[in-house]
Amino acid sequence: MNFKKERTYVMIKPDGVRKGLTGEIIRRFEQRDLKVVALEMFQPTKDQIDNHYPKDEAWQRRLGQKTLTTYAKYGIDAVKDLGTDDDLAIGKMVRGWLLDFMTSAPLVRMVIEGVHAIDMVRKICGNTLPNLADMGTIRGDYSADSPAVANSEHRAVMNLVHASETVQEAEHEIKHWFGDRSVIFEYSRLTD
Ligand code: ADP
Repeated sequence: MNFKKERTYVMIKPDGVRKGLTGEIIRRFEQRDLKVVALEMFQPTKDQIDNHYPKDEAWQRRLGQKTLTTYAKYGIDAVKDLGTDDDLAIGKMVRGWLLDFMTSAPLVRMVIEGVHAIDMVRKICGNTLPNLADMGTIRGDYSADSPAVANSEHRAVMNLVHASETVQEAEHEIKHWFGDRSVIFEYSRLTD
């Protein structure tokens, strides 16, 4: 494995595009010596998004747990708000909202390459939940959304950007979104 040339998949979400943050988000990766090797704006189908996010029970439970943890912290009654306090049922609900959200505007897809690109990009993006994201990260600087607010409005958390979390996820997502490898480029930056 070549850690200097690790590749990750990044997608600017509808809120990032609609807030006019496309350039700013890309700038933050480039500033950290990461290289954009593929880049495109496009309108996804619901099917494409459905196949992008995992469908397994464990992943959906994890989504639901994020809601339940936030609800517990702020003393919100999940049954009253969402009709259930079952993590899987809430996870499935959130996944559905995510499909609606991710198809609500064009997205920007890209492949980013560089030293430990997967972890580095996740660090630059910040915590999944903007209310918990550190200042200086994309999500911490440009969003204040939280599951408590989002779920009471029956929608997904808007957090500007998606980035692969593991090597397996990056490989799957790059293949899913850039099946045609010819649009992924090889070049050296002047500082390489
Ligand atoms: P990440 O995008 O950081 O990898 P996840 O894979 O856990 O995070 O979640 C996928 C996306 O689902 C998040 O980026 C966010 O938009 C949305 N999301 C996650 N948890 C919740 C939640 N509890 N309520 C609403 N939306 C959520």
